[in-house]
Amino acid sequence: MTSRQGSAASRPHRVLFVVANWKMHMTRGPAEQLARDIVRAVAEVGGVEVAICPPATALDVVGRVLAGTPLLLGAQTMHEETHGAFTGEISPTMLLDVGCRCVILGHSERRQWYNETDEALARKVRAAISHRLMPIICVGEKLVEREAGQTDAIITEQVEVAVAGAGDQFDVPLVVAYEPVWAIGTGRTATGEEANRVAALIRWIVSSNCGAAAGGALRILYGGSVKPDNVREFFGQPEIDGALVGGASLDAGAFAAIVRAAAERGRGA
Ligand code: PEP
Repeated sequence: MTSRQGSAASRPHRVLFVVANWKMHMTRGPAEQLARDIVRAVAEVGGVEVAICPPATALDVVGRVLAGTPLLLGAQTMHEETHGAFTGEISPTMLLDVGCRCVILGHSERRQWYNETDEALARKVRAAISHRLMPIICVGEKLVEREAGQTDAIITEQVEVAVAGAGDQFDVPLVVAYEPVWAIGTGRTATGEEANRVAALIRWIVSSNCGAAAGGALRILYGGSVKPDNVREFFGQPEIDGALVGGASLDAGAFAAIVRAAAERGRGA
């Protein structure tokens, strides 16, 4: 354990956060049904914050299912401007209008297929914060970068640029998802120990750039092939405060099992 890492005993209380990223799956009917199934499956689980991020066309219908429940509605991406000639884009005010409370930003699939840069991510993070949308900032190294021993340099660059200009006074909690690119949708995962080491680095960078209070409150999610049978390895780590779940979030039973594992960790089980 390096000096950057806290122990479980010294960890400030951060409510665990489990986020479903449905990616480009499901038309409105199945999305509504899956949202209902998840709401029912996690209804008795307390002490964990849960968000569902459906595709844009299903935001409204899923938002109606989540209304009146503790589950949050989230989007998978966002433009930083409130309106304008940006064909195909969705603004922060549009997301608020449909009931979103959080937004995934800088997902590696956005970086890979739509050339989203760290600088674009920084603008979106600032816009999200100013509209009180909780940003879920995704960072992670590619396999070649990992094999070249560049993980820490890549993560440092991505996090520093993403939070540049965020300041140290914001009304929404910051969330960073550490998602090694080689682990997304591949069935491969980082070890819990390695994910914890990178999470400690992320917290240290946010503390250095946004202040100790922001760093202490920051929730760091692990993402990348999280499943019910491997998630405890990550939830057992002191620096990891939840999970960003892709494939397994398309199955209400699997997703609920991950939420229950988070609740166990929240209770110190
Ligand atoms: C993701 O989409 O952010 C993700 C981690 O996907 P998966 O769980 O399928 O690897």
